[in-house]
Amino acid sequence: MHIKANDVVEVITGDDKGVRGKVLSIDREAGKLVVEGVNRVYKHVRRSQKNPQGGRLSKEMPIQISNVLLFCSKCSSASRTGSRVAADGSKERFCKKCGTSAGVIAPAKKK
Ligand SMILES: [Zn+2]
Repeated sequence: MHIKANDVVEVITGDDKGVRGKVLSIDREAGKLVVEGVNRVYKHVRRSQKNPQGGRLSKEMPIQISNVLLFCSKCSSASRTGSRVAADGSKERFCKKCGTSAGVIAPAKKK
C-alpha cells in the first residue's frame, strides 16, 4: 500500500464510507492512518484557564489503511494503485484506472 502523508484518500468502508480527506499521519507498524475529518471523536472539555469557553474538542482517530483508497484527481474516483518503474529508473505509483502517475515513491537507482 503506497499511501503517504498529505495524500487525498477516500474511505471505502465503515461509518465514514465515501468521505474524502487528507492523510494527516500514518502508523505503518500498526497499519493505521489518520485522515482529516474521518473517524472524528468529540471530547467534552470543562471550562478551565486554558480553555475558558469549555465545549467540545474534535480529534480524528486512526483507521485501518486497508479501509481507504488513494483518490485520483484525474479520473475523480478512489482507485487501486500500482507501482511501476519509470523510464529514468525511478519507481512511481499510478492509478490502475486511468494510468496517471501519482508521484514517485523511490528515486532512480544509481549505477
Ligand atoms: Zn485515475
